[in-house]
Amino acid sequence: MGWYPCPAPVGYLNTPDRSKGMKIIKKDKKRFDQLRKLFEMVMRKECNAVEAARIAKDEMSFRMKNGKPMARSTFYRLLTDPFYCGIFEYPKGSGNWHEGKLPAMITEEEHHQILAVLGRKGIARPRRHRFAYTGMMFCGECGCGITAEDKEKHQKNGNVHYYTYYHCTKKRGVCNQPCIEVKELERQIAEEIEKIEIPADFHSWAMTWLKHEHKKETGERNDVMSNHQGAYNASVRKLDALIDMRASGEISEEEYRNKKFKEVREKKRLHALINDTDARTDDWIGKAEEMLDFARDASTQYRDEESLREKKKILLKLGSNLILKDKKLSIDTANALLPLKKASPEVKRIHKRLEPLKDEEKQKALEDSYSKNPILLRGRDSNLRPTR
Ligand SMILES: [Zn+2]
Repeated sequence: MGWYPCPAPVGYLNTPDRSKGMKIIKKDKKRFDQLRKLFEMVMRKECNAVEAARIAKDEMSFRMKNGKPMARSTFYRLLTDPFYCGIFEYPKGSGNWHEGKLPAMITEEEHHQILAVLGRKGIARPRRHRFAYTGMMFCGECGCGITAEDKEKHQKNGNVHYYTYYHCTKKRGVCNQPCIEVKELERQIAEEIEKIEIPADFHSWAMTWLKHEHKKETGERNDVMSNHQGAYNASVRKLDALIDMRASGEISEEEYRNKKFKEVREKKRLHALINDTDARTDDWIGKAEEMLDFARDASTQYRDEESLREKKKILLKLGSNLILKDKKLSIDTANALLPLKKASPEVKRIHKRLEPLKDEEKQKALEDSYSKNPILLRGRDSNLRPTR
């Protein structure tokens, strides 16, 4: 799910279209910013929750949607609600936690800090919602699955830091592999995504070329198709004529059988040809475009993405056979992305070289360089298109 299925909590607004499950799409800007400030004050121990509630009422003129000041108990409830760090339980008390799709007010770490300040323990929720990459990586030493866990570090000043580590489950006995912090793991994943990244200029150049090729091929295929269809119709007419000839006694029974046998075989062959040509009119250009889009956008998307589920999706699309060994992640890049992995460093090199040029000049020079580069040419000839 991901959409909060209840009226929007303080600081958020429901969309006007309440019929579609009361979706929340936006912040309630003023209340959101004020609440964030109040949360920070409590978190940094600038004041306690009671004092913060008073400041909200008297100094910030914070009002609820009904125009009344926020009750102390309400503020306390908001402070401890994990919803504000982007997760919620639905139905309440069910133990099913969901990741919200809306902008969180605070990070999960800040949420835990507030709970620590208030002397409350973090609310447990199932792991599957917390760890994006469990169940998809394997240990390079013993072959077991890679799992994750949270660890706390208490500082002398009372602050608590939370870290997520990934490590081998070591279910098959001795394994000497160390654990890796999620930040380092994500840094490596981002690095892998960068290896296939292409600039927007190259994307549009490649698409123009592919569309041109596709049009040419479609034209050729239509010609071939109409030839096959013509031959097939002729074959059907010949069979009809044979029957007439036999009926009027022009040919003997034996002659008829021989000729019919040959013609039926020919008709079948043509029928198969037509089907085959038809099957090849698949949408290869659509698939190529999907990969080019991914290569252009994935890097930024992965960096900006907050949803664990979306991050996982990007990694799944990038490749398979994820092995973790000595704190190093290796990935087999997806076949469909291999040509882009070859093209990416070339394109980046060209862009770096032409960087000093002015816009109009640069555009022309870029396209010129693309179309003369043997690696990019090989890529577009053999890989982004299916083999014929
Ligand atoms: Zn292991």
